[in-house]
Amino acid sequence: MKYVSTRGQAPSLDFEGVTLAGLASDGGLYVPEVWPTFSPDEIAALAGLPYPELAQKIMQPFVGDSIAPDRLLELTRQAYGRFAHAGVTPLKQLDERQWVLELFHGPTLAFKDVALQLLGLLFEEFLSRRDDHLTIVGATSGDTGSAAIDAVAGRAKIDIFMLHPYGRVSDVQRRQMTTVLAPNVHNIAIDGSFDDAQATVKRMFNDAEITGKYGIAAVNSINWARLMAQVVYYFYAALQLGAPHRKVAFSVPTGNFGDVFAGYVAAKMGLPIERLIVATNINDILHRALSTGDYSAGTVTPTAAPSMDIQVSSNFERLLFDAGGKDGAAMAQQMRTFESTKALQLTNTQRESIATLFSSERADGVDMAHAMRWAHENAGEVLDPHTAIGLHAARVAKDLPADVPVVTLATAHPAKFVDAVERATGVRPPLPVRVGDLFEREEACTRLSGDYAVVADFVTARATPRHG
Ligand SMILES: *Cc1c(COP(=O)(O)O)cnc(C)c1O
Repeated sequence: MKYVSTRGQAPSLDFEGVTLAGLASDGGLYVPEVWPTFSPDEIAALAGLPYPELAQKIMQPFVGDSIAPDRLLELTRQAYGRFAHAGVTPLKQLDERQWVLELFHGPTLAFKDVALQLLGLLFEEFLSRRDDHLTIVGATSGDTGSAAIDAVAGRAKIDIFMLHPYGRVSDVQRRQMTTVLAPNVHNIAIDGSFDDAQATVKRMFNDAEITGKYGIAAVNSINWARLMAQVVYYFYAALQLGAPHRKVAFSVPTGNFGDVFAGYVAAKMGLPIERLIVATNINDILHRALSTGDYSAGTVTPTAAPSMDIQVSSNFERLLFDAGGKDGAAMAQQMRTFESTKALQLTNTQRESIATLFSSERADGVDMAHAMRWAHENAGEVLDPHTAIGLHAARVAKDLPADVPVVTLATAHPAKFVDAVERATGVRPPLPVRVGDLFEREEACTRLSGDYAVVADFVTARATPRHG
């Protein structure tokens, strides 16, 4: 499989190349040149497979010759063997129509583990073939950081520098990052919002002085391998609900547009998806973009669902590119406009194409708490704030055929956001035992200003240059 940049100028790469890359050299994001497809019969034949086997089958066309099928299966077995549920991502029913797909049974209690446990192994696999060193630089609104650190802590040939917005992640989220004291792990708290942290990281990926000397890799969802791993659970859930003979809708708590873009990929591969519902909180740039065509960033307001407190959704570029007919030059122009004015208008072609599959809903704090209480009182399920926003969107979505089940992606374990959950439901969900003595452990973290030069100096003073 070949990968091309959304901005049309960077060289195409194979799967190994895109996994180890950050941004494409033209500032774009890598996407597969063509979408591999499965026929209805091929999809039917996937029913009942254990998760690691399904994962290998769905991912192999994207991986191509970079990893042999037997080896890829070993890696998926290893990655998903660390999950605390035999089904890896179990599906639960709330009422006749509403379902939740629990994606939080990995080591750090959010769906990010599904992709990052595998990505850590992919990094190691590819680095073992070459004498090289990887410097991971990432920005996190909370969950990517802990999942990425867990996936690479202590691994030779990899350093990880993780930026989070100071004071804007939950205590559990912060401690899951800062209590990992392995020497290759560097936590940085920066003053500002997640968008500020993400902008700093993107600038580093575009800084030729840094990329020329260090092997800079991404663990944010700009990394294609992450999205690829997330496609699997859309198939997994839909197969259990009758795919390919019955259509399914998904409601996805959305921030950087990675998770829901994976659903779009599943649809492109032939999975019959009735609708993808993009659920946002009051930081609703995506809801505005999808309902009016106006993608313009406002300021970020902190909420009880911090992983969705985002105004610039990196992966939206991947959708705009695909929906706009894969025109790299036009995409580069559209993104230049966005970067200079913080606003862009979707073209009619983009809007019409996107509207065939996507709708969106916005939930405020009251909607979120109401959905959390509804799930608790009617189905005995305690949901985290992000999942509750997804469930709200699933329940208010308009014009869905009556026989279509709606699956909300449960993106985090409720114990990760225990205070917000207790406020809404009166229940204080305990941390699962696998997390251990998180609140007893020592923390290590450096607080820096959001200034680019300060962060860049910090990284270059500690990173190992690439070899050769
Ligand atoms: C990361 C995250 C999201 C948002 O996912 P995107 O892929 O960035 O859209 C939603 N909920 C939780 C709990 C998350 O950690």
